[in-house]
Amino acid sequence: MASGRFAPSPTGELHLGNLRTALVAWLCARSTGSRFVLRFEDLDRVTSRPEHVTTQANDLHLLGIEWDGAPLIQSTRFDAHHAAINTLVEGGHTFECFCSRREVAEALHAPNGPQEGGRYPGTCHKLTYHQRAEHLKNGRTPAIRLRPPKRDEIVSDRLSGVSWHPVDDVVLRRNDGIPAYNLAVVVDDAFQGVEEVVRGDDLLPSAAPQQVIARLLGLPPVSYVHVPLAVNSGGQRLAKRDGAITLRQLAEHGVDARETLSILGCSLGLCTSGESVTAKEILGRFAVERLPTKPWIVDGS
Ligand code: GLU
Repeated sequence: MASGRFAPSPTGELHLGNLRTALVAWLCARSTGSRFVLRFEDLDRVTSRPEHVTTQANDLHLLGIEWDGAPLIQSTRFDAHHAAINTLVEGGHTFECFCSRREVAEALHAPNGPQEGGRYPGTCHKLTYHQRAEHLKNGRTPAIRLRPPKRDEIVSDRLSGVSWHPVDDVVLRRNDGIPAYNLAVVVDDAFQGVEEVVRGDDLLPSAAPQQVIARLLGLPPVSYVHVPLAVNSGGQRLAKRDGAITLRQLAEHGVDARETLSILGCSLGLCTSGESVTAKEILGRFAVERLPTKPWIVDGS
């Protein structure tokens, strides 16, 4: 059966913007009778914390966002990620990259460097045998990057429509051996039977390399709903400094989970200000094509 999903990184408490995206993901799945699954994307071992897995799951539960089955912890899937990377390596769709982040950034800013922002400068595209041996001798281990068969890709989003995006030589395996986000997200969405990906619209450009990776691995395509982000009154992406923006902080200010759900529902045009609603009631009013297409401005003060 088809699934929708919410895939937070357990690096802190969920804020109103994250919770709103989770609610939309749940509404999209449940309104079509799909399963709804959770995945905690804890690839980054430095910033991810088990206690945030617990709090994030609790917060979703408090809002009435229920999921099917046990949440998937992404770091338990390394074997599957490495198997997928090996498939891409064997298919000739990758190259080894010895560049540090700093070197990539410097090459991009060099006077004659590539003009398109954020693109890998191609430093390790054609390493000679000797250059490679030299890097290894100097104790460097390579990352594995995607060698995309073509440089751009159409992404079709149910909210924002069709757009073209560049496909960069994204990292598939970091040089510390950890699978990278763009690879893991594709492999795990397929594993969890996800057919529709709902997430923040900051990740819309990532859909391009992710579609390419899925195709190269022979995995089924997904549909997308990229939800406009929550921003503060200055138009910047919501952050800790923006006041009471997590369920815990709101509760400290006397706003309980039910009232928070009402705030979220109201921001989606699914209930009136101050109306007491349950997630199930909101579900009865939901239609993806009526979702707001502008960022949601949050005043957490
Ligand atoms: N884990 C990512 C985040 O929290 C979301 C990844 C995704 O939904 O594809 O930003």
